[in-house]
Amino acid sequence: MKSNAIAGTLALMMMMPALAAGEEAGTQLGSVLKRAKQASDLHMSDAEEQKLGEAVSDNIRTRYGVVQDPAIHKYVTLVGGALAIASTRPNLNWRFVVLDTDGVNALAAPGGIIHVTRGALSLMKSEAELADVLGHEIIHITEKHTLKAIQKGTATKIAAEESGAGGAVFGELVNKATNVVMAGFGRGEELEADQKGIVLANKVGYDPSKLAAFLTTLSERNKASTEKQGLFASHPEMKERLEKLEKTVKDQKLTATATLEARYASHVSYKPVAITEIATVEAGSAGLAGGGSAKPSDESKKETDKSGEKTEEPKKKGGFSLKGLVSPSKGGEKSSGETTGSSAARGVDAERGAKGGSNKNVVVVNVALSDINAFKKEGKLN
Ligand SMILES: [Zn+2]
Repeated sequence: MKSNAIAGTLALMMMMPALAAGEEAGTQLGSVLKRAKQASDLHMSDAEEQKLGEAVSDNIRTRYGVVQDPAIHKYVTLVGGALAIASTRPNLNWRFVVLDTDGVNALAAPGGIIHVTRGALSLMKSEAELADVLGHEIIHITEKHTLKAIQKGTATKIAAEESGAGGAVFGELVNKATNVVMAGFGRGEELEADQKGIVLANKVGYDPSKLAAFLTTLSERNKASTEKQGLFASHPEMKERLEKLEKTVKDQKLTATATLEARYASHVSYKPVAITEIATVEAGSAGLAGGGSAKPSDESKKETDKSGEKTEEPKKKGGFSLKGLVSPSKGGEKSSGETTGSSAARGVDAERGAKGGSNKNVVVVNVALSDINAFKKEGKLN
């Protein structure tokens, strides 16, 4: 086991509500960008990365809302915490947030904040499926995929050359990071997250074949629609992913067997909502959803500068407007949000476009290392 310091960190972080993207964070990250001569020089401390992640999480929670139930948060935090402390970055302020939407998705904000939707939980059949999915998201964070994606973007270079206005630069960085997280990563990052994610889950004792099981369920759910939907929408082709997952299990001799269906069922009772029944957001009310599926980050990045203006719009409904953050599908001129009712038939990404709850408040749970250890022991995990 790791040092006791982790227990303190974990316990503290679970009790600490998410910080807003405040002045202090803005100034600090603005100066990071100013120091960077070009995008490839952009280096962040863990603390800076976490501040960026807080702001990205705030955007995500504003869009989808948070399930106001400490019990489900505690359970997901125990599973995620068991994985996080076995990861390569155990000392981040790992947090796990259950989003209040029927859409199936999971999103990793930089610095250790992982979001999984109520819809995703409703579709899973075992704790191992949850662990394998959380493992995938944890790898996006430990491998700093969002920061790497931003570094690839030319827009960051421009931002880095700006002088003054730390808050504005920070805002732009938050927009870029949110865009990357929402649109999904590139093929290489996704395959890396798949493979390292199941290795991590296996290390803790979870059956590593359950990511493939979940993806298969998801694939079944979406087979009637023309577009890839929601979670992993930008990901590599399903066939390739499943083959690579199987190969990883074989090549790396991953033999963990815990699935824990009963424990999962005792904690999660959400019922899935068919993709054709999912209500999506109204026109203009949430730009992330609407007109067509978001594109992989490489493509959507090109439009980030253009949309930068829009993202500075006054707040609506007490939250940060995400309008324009994710560029519309090909053509670029379509307005981002013409959606009502069922959307799968029109090729809209119903999983990501799904309506969310209105309460974005973080649900505070107190999980210490001793709780995680007891939880692992009960599940006969490693
Ligand atoms: Zn991913």
